[in-house]
Amino acid sequence: MTTPVPFLDLAAARTELARDLDAAALRVLASGHYILGPETNAFEAEFAAYCRVKHAIGVGNGLDALMLILRALGIGAGHEVIVPANTFIATWLAVSLVGARPVPVEPRADTANLDPARVEAAISANTRAIMPVHLYGQCADMSALGEIAARHGLPLVEDAAQAQGATWAGARAGGLGIAAGFSFYPGKNLGAFGDAGAVTTNDDALAEAIRKLRNYGSSRKYVHELAGVNSRLDEMQSALLRVKLARLDDWNARRRAHAAFYTQAFAESGLTLPSVADGAEPVWHLYVVQVDHRDALQAFLRERGVDTLVHYPIPPYGQGAYEADGYDEQAFPISNRLHAQVLSLPMGPHLTDAQAQAVVDAVFAARDAGLIGRA
Ligand SMILES: *Cc1c(COP(=O)(O)O)cnc(C)c1O
Repeated sequence: MTTPVPFLDLAAARTELARDLDAAALRVLASGHYILGPETNAFEAEFAAYCRVKHAIGVGNGLDALMLILRALGIGAGHEVIVPANTFIATWLAVSLVGARPVPVEPRADTANLDPARVEAAISANTRAIMPVHLYGQCADMSALGEIAARHGLPLVEDAAQAQGATWAGARAGGLGIAAGFSFYPGKNLGAFGDAGAVTTNDDALAEAIRKLRNYGSSRKYVHELAGVNSRLDEMQSALLRVKLARLDDWNARRRAHAAFYTQAFAESGLTLPSVADGAEPVWHLYVVQVDHRDALQAFLRERGVDTLVHYPIPPYGQGAYEADGYDEQAFPISNRLHAQVLSLPMGPHLTDAQAQAVVDAVFAARDAGLIGRA
């Protein structure tokens, strides 16, 4: 029988840390303090230190993190924000939620990250920010994007939802722009046990504004200076995230080892392998290959017990959510090709070496069956 390979084993993550996680959960239950207390304060300090920034502000989820950054920057109706054409829809929805328009820019074909060479042509008089995504756990080209942003006086906002611990030119995601939005959705590299997120920034005024905005626009109880929202990271998630944060570098190292194994094993497979840019040190949130007969390969692997996913099958501009906004789907050939060809292989800190080998064996069986190669 073949070894079944789940895409990601979250229960194994809990098992490894069971003693500390259970103790943290019980500590919070017994504390009588559940919102904006000592655990969240401690997690914010620890996550800021981890990202090497001055401030981390815990919020309800990654979408809110991005949306609150844009609101704090004063971005709203009539404004435009440059976003990748190929990303999870939350990047775009954060822009839409503040009343601004997402302006999509094509990715580089090799890294699938926002292509700096195409950004300038998309900047208009209404542009108020550039928001790259560190897709699949690899930082976008923040040097080139930073130069463009500076030349146009625009803030650079990181969608770092997939990139906890990733670096660009030695600096960690979270400190590479004016502010960064993180998600701690359970499947992310640093995952909570429910919804959770954070904003990181070195900007004192922005940090203060986001602290208020996440808590009904208030910094003193029953005094509301801004029309804020309720998007607070709770004590339970904070306590559990503190346990996992201490293990993040170790778990990212295991992802790197699996990625290195895949890359070596698949050298002659016919798959197009992930490309790492000079300056990037990815944390391999996903290991994404490109292949012509993607759906057939996925079905073949599924039959052999290997679970894969597609990130993402439909681009934001092709979603019903944006149907009324008049995006020309034909204007994004690189993004369209990626959406048709990307396949995410099993990846995570609890993938075993035997499981990774089973993935490799299944892929080569697919190649021998003629499923990889010319379209
Ligand atoms: C997960 C994710 C988000 C949103 O995070 P949530 O916590 O689910 O709201 C935003 N952007 C990207 C690129 C993501 O992968």
